[in-house]
Amino acid sequence: MIDIHSHFFPRLDKAEARVGVAGDTPWLAIDADGHNGQIMLGERPFRPVTEELWDAEARVRALDAAGIDLQIVCATPVLFGYDWEAGRAAEWATCVNDQAARYCAVRPARLRWMAQVPLQDPRLACAEAARAMRAGAVGVQIGNHVGPKDLDHPDLVGFLAFCAEKAIPVFVHPWDMMGSAGRMRQWMLPWLVAMPAETQLGMLSLILSGALERIPETLRICFAHGGGSFAWTLGRVDNAWKHRDIVRRDCPELPSSYARRLHVDSAVFDAGALKLLTDVMGADHVMLGTDAPFPLGEQQPGALVRACNFLDDHARRGILGDNARTFFGLGA
Ligand SMILES: [Zn+2]
Repeated sequence: MIDIHSHFFPRLDKAEARVGVAGDTPWLAIDADGHNGQIMLGERPFRPVTEELWDAEARVRALDAAGIDLQIVCATPVLFGYDWEAGRAAEWATCVNDQAARYCAVRPARLRWMAQVPLQDPRLACAEAARAMRAGAVGVQIGNHVGPKDLDHPDLVGFLAFCAEKAIPVFVHPWDMMGSAGRMRQWMLPWLVAMPAETQLGMLSLILSGALERIPETLRICFAHGGGSFAWTLGRVDNAWKHRDIVRRDCPELPSSYARRLHVDSAVFDAGALKLLTDVMGADHVMLGTDAPFPLGEQQPGALVRACNFLDDHARRGILGDNARTFFGLGA
């Protein structure tokens, strides 16, 4: 099995992260026992975490237990630094990416990495993406927006076109969720309501803006968490496109016809949802993604895919590994 959606966090203490240089710099406070820790944002605790996040040997023990042959790790989104001064964010991306390379170098047959880029500056983002690929990255992870800029913004379209030209796979992760400070303060609602909406917004921004008409079809782009609300609401979007000219204005083809330009991971946790997802995206555009090692991830990786008898063996093998091999160009 290949897991394409998992996170790591660089082992940077407060001094190494240069807390205070830019915003609430993220860093890692590790407990004296070495097994548990806390992601910190400046002086503020953000999330309790465990050793797989920063310790590659502990990660591989978890992979062995889960039956995962290869896991692709990427930064925890709180590391993005998109609201920092661009030069500092570029330096930071290089630092995080070097740490990702080091993390995976411990067990290179089991762990590969995607880079992060300073997406607030398209020129610097392209440069870091190219540098990271030369340094061994298998793709880049980006957030679904940079402040008010969604994926249809010319800066982001330019970055995606660059990735298409250079054959750099892109993984889009929702982050900086809408409404978090307002009506979604309780019960993890930003993760349960806003995250799927952010992902859907990213996908619809690309489709309804006509950006996919301007980005080369060679772009390999994958969205986290099964594309959030996308598949479930695509019929509503198609209906709006048919009956309202403002929806058709920038999008020449039926929105659902663009779904086959996009990939998603399989992290939907429900057989009915996975059925819809494979129907809408095509089973060859869905790849196992666990969101490890966080508790909202898949606890028994691959179990849902194996249990779904609407998938034939070819489709199952695709979702559990073969599609990822093609998407990331991993070879046999
Ligand atoms: Zn994730």
